[in-house]
Amino acid sequence: MKHFPIFVAVEGRRIVLSGGGEEALAKLRLLLKTEANLTVVAENAAPEIRAWAQEGRLTLISRAMEPGDAMCAVLFYAANGDDAEDARVAALAHRDGARVNMVDNLHGSQFITPAIVDRDPVTIAIGTEGAAPVLARAIKADLEAKLPASLGVLARIGKSFRSAVEALPMGRKRRDFWSEYYFNKGPQAIEEDGENGVQSALKNLLDTYLTDTREKAGHVDLVGAGPGDPDLLTLKARKALDKADVVIYDRLVSAEILELARREAVMIDAGKEGFGKAMSQSEINDLIVSHAKDGHQVVRLKSGDPTVFGRLDEEIDACDAADVSWRIVPGITAASAAVAGIGQSLTKRDRNGSVRFITGHDMKGYADHDWRALSRAGEVAAIYMGKRAARFVQGRLLMHGAHPETPITVVENVSRVEQRTLTCRLGTLSDDLETANLTGPALMLLGLAPRAALQVAQDISIQEVAQ
Ligand code: SAH
Repeated sequence: MKHFPIFVAVEGRRIVLSGGGEEALAKLRLLLKTEANLTVVAENAAPEIRAWAQEGRLTLISRAMEPGDAMCAVLFYAANGDDAEDARVAALAHRDGARVNMVDNLHGSQFITPAIVDRDPVTIAIGTEGAAPVLARAIKADLEAKLPASLGVLARIGKSFRSAVEALPMGRKRRDFWSEYYFNKGPQAIEEDGENGVQSALKNLLDTYLTDTREKAGHVDLVGAGPGDPDLLTLKARKALDKADVVIYDRLVSAEILELARREAVMIDAGKEGFGKAMSQSEINDLIVSHAKDGHQVVRLKSGDPTVFGRLDEEIDACDAADVSWRIVPGITAASAAVAGIGQSLTKRDRNGSVRFITGHDMKGYADHDWRALSRAGEVAAIYMGKRAARFVQGRLLMHGAHPETPITVVENVSRVEQRTLTCRLGTLSDDLETANLTGPALMLLGLAPRAALQVAQDISIQEVAQ
C-alpha cells in the first residue's frame, strides 16, 4: 500500500483550490459536498464557480495565486490544467504548509482523492493508487447500485441516537440492536412512513431492548469454508462470519477467508496437522462450548464441507451435552471443487452411478476400504488425506486387480491461486507424487483424468484402432 486511506477532518477548515476550468470544476463538485471553507483562486473562473461564489458556497479570489493564499489550508488542489502553472502554485502551497494534490500528477501529489460513494455520513472511498481509474469507477458504480439511497438517512438518525443507546450494555446486545435497526426495522420504517417513521421506529426498538433484560444465549455455527477461494464461500457462511464473536478455525482455512470475519472477532487457530495434532479434539470441543456458554456467537470454521471428514459429530455431541444451540452451514467440499477444476463430473451415465469419498488415513493409521470394489474399471473415488498414504492405496488397488493404467488425478491447493494438477496413472502414482513434491493439501481423484488429457488419450486410441 503506497497510500494509506484516512478521512481528513475538514469541517470549518480551509481547502484552497487553484484553477478555474474543467479540472477545477470536477474537483469542486466533490469538495462542495464537504463542510469545509472553500477558497478558489483563479484569474478566469468558469461561470459555475462564479455562481457558487455568489451563493456563498465558496470564496473566489479572481487573480493568479500568490504566496500566502494557501495559508492555514488543510488541503490544497493545483487544478489549472497547465503543468507549469500547477507546479508553480503547488510550490507556493507547500511553502504555506498545506498538503498538496496536483490534478493528474500522482508523483507531484502528497495525497490523492479517491472515487467516492456518498451516503453521508457513510462514505466509501475507492482507490487504485492511480493504477486503474476505470476499475475504481466500475466498483463505484457497482456500490452505488447496491447501497440503498436510504442508508445515509438511517445512519444520520442512528447517530443522533447513539448516546441513548449507551443505556444498553456494551457488546452483543448493543450490536444486535444496531443490526436490527440498520437491516430490518430502519429500512422497513422508511418504506412504510418515509424518513419521519424512522425516529419512532428506533425509539420503539430501543424500548424493547431496554425492557428485555434476558441474557441472550450463545450459539455455534458449524461452517464450511470451502476449499480456499473466498468466492466459493456461501452467503450463509459470510453472514455467520459477519456476526461472529469468536471464530475457531482449522489449519486448511485460507487467510483470505479469515479476513472476512468481523474485525472484532476473537480468532482462534485450532489447526490440526495430518498425523500429529496441534490441539486435541476434546480441547476443541471444550473451547467451542465454553465460548458459547459465555453467550458468544461462535463460528466453528472448517475447510470444505464440515460434514466431510470434519469430526463434526463429536463437536455436535459436545454442544448437545452442554445444551448449546448449533447449526450446520454446508460448504463446497474439496472433491467438488477439484472435479470442477479438471472439467469432469463426479458421476456420469454409463461410467459410474456412485462415487465414494474415502480417506487415505484415519486416526489409527492407513485406512482400509472395500479395495476390491474400488479396483473395478469405471469406479470413481475422491481420496482425502491421501498424500502420505499414496503408496499404500496404490498397492491395495493393484493387489485387488486394478489396471495400472487407471487414471488418477491429484489436485493440490484446489481453487487457490497455487492450484496444481498432476495427471497420473495408478501404476506410477507414488513415484509421480514423490517427484512432484507436493506441499499443499491435495485431493486424489481415482478413475478420473482431466478432460483435455482424456480427449488426447481417446484420440490416440481412435488412431490406433484406425491403423
Ligand atoms: N472437510 C474438508 C476435508 C477435510 S480433510 C472438505 O470437505 O474438503 C482434509 C483433506 O481434505 C486434505 O488432506 C485434502 O485431501 C483435502 N483438502 C482440503 N482442502 C483442500 C484443497 N484446497 N485442495 C486440495 N485438497 C484439499
